[in-house]
Amino acid sequence: MTEPAACVFCRIVEGKEQASFVAQGADALAFLDLHPITEGHTLIVPRKHAASIGEVDEVSAVAMWSLARRVAAALRSSGLRCEALNFFLADGAAAGQDVFHSHLHVIPRWEGDNFGIKFPPHYGAAADRKTLDDVAGRLRKRLA
Ligand SMILES: [Zn+2]
Repeated sequence: MTEPAACVFCRIVEGKEQASFVAQGADALAFLDLHPITEGHTLIVPRKHAASIGEVDEVSAVAMWSLARRVAAALRSSGLRCEALNFFLADGAAAGQDVFHSHLHVIPRWEGDNFGIKFPPHYGAAADRKTLDDVAGRLRKRLA
């Protein structure tokens, strides 16, 4: 786990690193991605350092999603190109997380923007109900 002092997003939260802020709330803030996929690509981060979304406290997690929703509305009405949006959260290196301070991407999209999610070759066939029910049961036990 990245130590807070070494974390670039903590430095941004503390005002020790430059960022182009979109919003600064009590528990979460929003600033533009330094490497935008599309113009207006915004990152939503909790103020308190947590590497994984599972380690983000409930109040901060709710604040992140609430702010993301408001930023999405702002992007749609900003005049920037934004026919649609993706919310994207990479949790762990295998999922593409590169900065280990949990963050939610809000990405303006349009037809033909050349960004997308790649599906595996087997995607498309519906899973059988027993498998779905077994997996759902397993998760229900963990949530109980
Ligand atoms: Zn951090």
